[in-house]
Order: sequence, then C-alpha cells, then structure tokens
Amino acid sequence: MKYEAKLIDGKMMLISRDIKVGDKVKIPQTKDNYDNNDFNIEGIVNSVGNNECNITMNNSGNITIPKKYCIKIIGEISLETTWIEDGDILDEHDLTDRNGDWVSSTPFSNYKELSAGYELRKRGIWKIAVRCPTCKKFH
Ligand SMILES: [Zn+2]
Repeated sequence: MKYEAKLIDGKMMLISRDIKVGDKVKIPQTKDNYDNNDFNIEGIVNSVGNNECNITMNNSGNITIPKKYCIKIIGEISLETTWIEDGDILDEHDLTDRNGDWVSSTPFSNYKELSAGYELRKRGIWKIAVRCPTCKKFH
C-alpha cells in the first residue's frame, strides 16, 4: 500500500488517503487551510463514496467533502529522514518503526491493522523510519 509524507504543524507525518468508514480523519476547515497543509479539524468517517466522504465532526455536526481533502494520520516520520519532502509517496515496504535510537531492520507490516485510524504512538511506536535511497538502511 502507498502512503504519503505530509508536513503538518511543522512535523513530517506519514498519512494515508485510504479512507474507510470509522476512520478518524483530519480535514482542512477551508481551501486556504488546505493550501497551507493546515488540517485543523478532526472527525470520524460515516460513509465513503468514489469522490466524497461524509464525516461527523467533533464539534459541529456532519459534513460532506471531496475525498482529496480527507487524510488519515498514521504517525510521525523520523527526523533523520532528511531526504523526505512534503508530498512524497512512500511504499509500506520502505517503512519500519523507530523507538528512539532503536530502529527495526525489517519493514513494518502492521499498517493494515491501522484502518481504524489509530496513530502509531498509541501502540508504543514513536516514529516511523524510512528506507534510505543511498545506503538502503532504515533511518
Ligand atoms: Zn542512509
């Protein structure tokens, strides 16, 4: 499965656009917020169509918006992945977990279990390491 790197609130986050009913998602309040990567509203997905999602917002009822504005945050990408840029597409085989200085050497394979939108840090995984295009290790 493909994931995306997105700079949100100054942090490089791993996100998914594979949105399913029951997922916790973030959306921008306006088009301006979207243009600034400001995904400032959170909600739970009620239904997913080909192009739109219906979301129950935390404070303000339901909203239907284009799917492209809807993202699921998986977790924070390691600060040592200095080559990663906003909008980069990442394959799950190039991702693993990083707890401080401890970096797994095998690709993390449990992202599919995250369809309910749980963030990795709630599972005890602090950061996400990415396979380096130069040395092929995870950083
Ligand atoms: Zn490297």
